[in-house]
Parts: sequence; C-alpha cells; structure tokens
Amino acid sequence: MRADYEFLKEAENASLEIPHDVTESVRDIVDTVRESGDDGVRELTRTFDEVDREALRVSDKEIEAAAEALTEAERRTIDNTIENVREFHEEQFAHLDGFEKEFEPGVTLGTRLLPVETAGVYVPGGRHPLVAAPAMTIVPAKVVGVETVVACAPPQPDGSVQPAQLYAMDRAGADEVYVAGGAQAVAAMAYGTETIPSVDKITGPGNIFVIEAKRQVYGRVGIDFLAGPTEVLVIADGTSDPEMVAADLLAQAEHDPRSRPILVVTDEGVAESTEEALYAQLPALRTEETARECWEDNGEIVLAADLAEAAEIANDYAIEHLQVMVDEPRRLIDDLHEYGSLFLGHDAPVVFGDKAVGTNHTLPTLEVAKYSGGVNVTTYLRVLTHQELTPEGADSVAPWAASICKLEGTHAHQVSAEKRIISDESRELAE
Ligand code: NAD
Repeated sequence: MRADYEFLKEAENASLEIPHDVTESVRDIVDTVRESGDDGVRELTRTFDEVDREALRVSDKEIEAAAEALTEAERRTIDNTIENVREFHEEQFAHLDGFEKEFEPGVTLGTRLLPVETAGVYVPGGRHPLVAAPAMTIVPAKVVGVETVVACAPPQPDGSVQPAQLYAMDRAGADEVYVAGGAQAVAAMAYGTETIPSVDKITGPGNIFVIEAKRQVYGRVGIDFLAGPTEVLVIADGTSDPEMVAADLLAQAEHDPRSRPILVVTDEGVAESTEEALYAQLPALRTEETARECWEDNGEIVLAADLAEAAEIANDYAIEHLQVMVDEPRRLIDDLHEYGSLFLGHDAPVVFGDKAVGTNHTLPTLEVAKYSGGVNVTTYLRVLTHQELTPEGADSVAPWAASICKLEGTHAHQVSAEKRIISDESRELAE
C-alpha cells in the first residue's frame, strides 16, 4: 500500500531495529549494574555522563533547593501541568471497574484491578530535561495507588538533577529520586542495587540505550512499551494554515534528529507553502540544528487524493501523534483507528497534549500504536480474576473439569475435580 502514495518528499523507512553494537554495550551496562550495584552505576555515570557523584539518592535538601531555584511562576507552570494530568487520569480511573457476578448458581466469578506495588519511572534528560515527563509517568501511578514510585533521571554536568525536573518529580508524587541516566538507570531499577530498589514495572521514554535496556530487562520486570523518538503526522487540506502546520511539524523535529514529522495533505498548494513556511521558520528556532537535520533526513510530505485516503495513510503509519488540521475534523474520527493520541482541529497542536492539557505524552512510536496505547492508569494496574464456589456450584462444574482432565491425562487435576462431586447426576456425567 505505501508504494502507491505520492511522496513529495520521502524519508528513510524508520524502524526500531537496535544496532548490534548498542545491544552489546547495553548488555555490558546491565551486567555491570547487576554485578557491581551502586559502584557500577557510579562508574557508568562517570563514563557516559562525565559526572562523579557519590550519593545516588537525591536528598530532601536537594529537592528543597530545586524548588527554591525556580521562580514562583515556574513552579506554578509545573503545578498546572501536574494538576491537569492528575484530573485527566483520575477521570480515566473513575471509568474503570472490576466486577463480580454469579454466572450460575453457586459459581461467582470476578475481576479486581490492583496496582503494582512498586513502579520505576525513567525521566529522560540527556538532550532536553523534559519537565512535563515526570507528570506523565508518576501521576497515573499515584492515581491508581502504586505504593512506591521510584524515579531516575540523568545528572547535569554538576551532578545535580535539573531543578525544574526534580521539582516536577517531587510534586508529581515520586517517593524516591535517584541520579542515574540511560541503560544503567533501567538496569538498577530492574535488578536493584544497594541503594536503588528493584521495582515491579518500569515506564517512561528515553533514548536508544534506555529502549534497549527496557527490552533486555523485560520479563524480570514489566515495562510499558518501547517508545522511540517522537513522531507527528499532520493531516491537512485546503483549509489548513501552512504557517501553523509548519510550526507543529517543527515542534516535533526539534526533539531528535531521528524524530519523524510527516505531512499528509490533499492540497498541493498547501504542501508547497508549508515546506516554504517551514524553511522560513527554521532559522528563528534556538533548536534549529536538530530540527533542520530531522526534517531533512526524516521529514515527509505525502499527497493524498482526498481526506478519506489521508485517513487511510495515517492508519498505515500508526503514528504517535496524529493532528487533524482541517475544518470539521470530527468527520474523520470514525476512519482513524491507529494512533497514539489524536489532536482534532486547527487549534489542538501536539504541544498541548505533550506539555499541559492533561492527556498523557508517553506514547507509542514506530507502529507500536497497532498494539498499545500510551501510558495510562491501566499501565500500573493488574487485572486479576477470582472465583468462589459453593458445594452445589462446585458439583455442577466438577464433571466438566474432570472430563477435560481425562482428555489431557492430567490425572491429579481430575481427582481434584472429582472429589467435589456430590450429586448422582454429576457422578453420572463424569463417567
Ligand atoms: P535520555 O535521558 O534518554 O538519555 C541520556 C542518557 O543516555 C545519559 O544519561 C547517558 O547515561 C546515556 N548515554 C548517552 N550516550 C551513551 C552511550 N554512548 N552509551 C550508553 N549510554 C549512553 O535522554 P535523550 O538522549 O535526550 O533521549 C530522550 C528521548 O526520549 C528522545 O529521543 C525523545 O524523543 C524521547 N521521548 C519520547 C517520548 C515518547 O512518548 N515516545 C516522550 C518524551 C521523550
């Protein structure tokens, strides 16, 4: 299907194939942390972050200092995002429930949604100290009642965690904050060190080393999913404003040279004006270098015959952020079913969802949206089942269970079931 698209500008096909050397070096990092614990984390921090720091745990004093380093307006900005994310996720949680039902007399079955006990969140901070990121991973965990949330973030050159990030981690509800970045942070939260506790589930985005480390520790701990560099696909038509479209594409391009900004447009004039606007806006950006490299390597413009085809193309990409920048965007909503998060209209740019509105920005990239949504309250919940049977209920189920066991040759199971038979009717059925 992709081959039929008309590309005005085409990028390399992105994939989550992790280069062999990254896999190998992450394996070494994970082994070092497993074998040497805190000392291993310190050594790796010296190697990859060029920072020498003895205490891995961030102290209360450092947290207070981080808050004081910010202006009141900065603190209010961060609090506003955390509050919106909390309200949204509380509402999400309120719409989930377990159930219990008597399916036949004496046979009651049910489901309970219980939080994992401990969660470890990775807060990325290499290229940009992402200040909204802690809200996205820590708040949903706390909303569902995760008892202990451990957070790890890489150090700044002076060994501290960037103050706005640290303030956000604390305000979002992190119980313990540690200074560790990249694969070593993930390994520490998976296997535990003398100071960094092992957790039940690790969440949060990061660079390729973080992604590969999450892949390697999966099984030992749960993970959310593997989230790569950010992506946006904008659907546009003749009603779209090229200046706005260009600004929204560049906003994702500045993240990483490997980010993917894609425009799917039904109007060739808007396509050309958007590219012109994009090159006109680039020099004014303080992140011009990354954004330009990203657009030149990974930016795409695809021409669609109409909005129906644009929706089909968008589904095919299963993009992380999908912006529908057309009049009456809800016309398309039933046709769009593969995306991490959907932004409807001319005035719903990705930056709102990513930074302030309350929805979650930890989202699936590289077609992971085909099997997973972003981080949400269920990320931290286990859907657990239970059953309760009266002697009469057990009597009615036992012959069926025993018959399956006979077919399998699982004799001890068969005996266990048959011991519950109390009626002649069931005894007959079991023979
Ligand atoms: P990061 O915190 O993920 O990584 C920084 C750490 O990487 C450093 O502390 C260092 O320890 C380690 N590292 C650096 N070079 C290394 C090497 N050669 N070998 C081993 N380890 C090394 O920060 P980042 O690099 O800025 O990456 C953040 C990523 O997260 C970006 O790609 C961004 O697009 C992505 N992101 C994705 C989402 C999403 O929801 N999909 C959201 C936010 C951010």
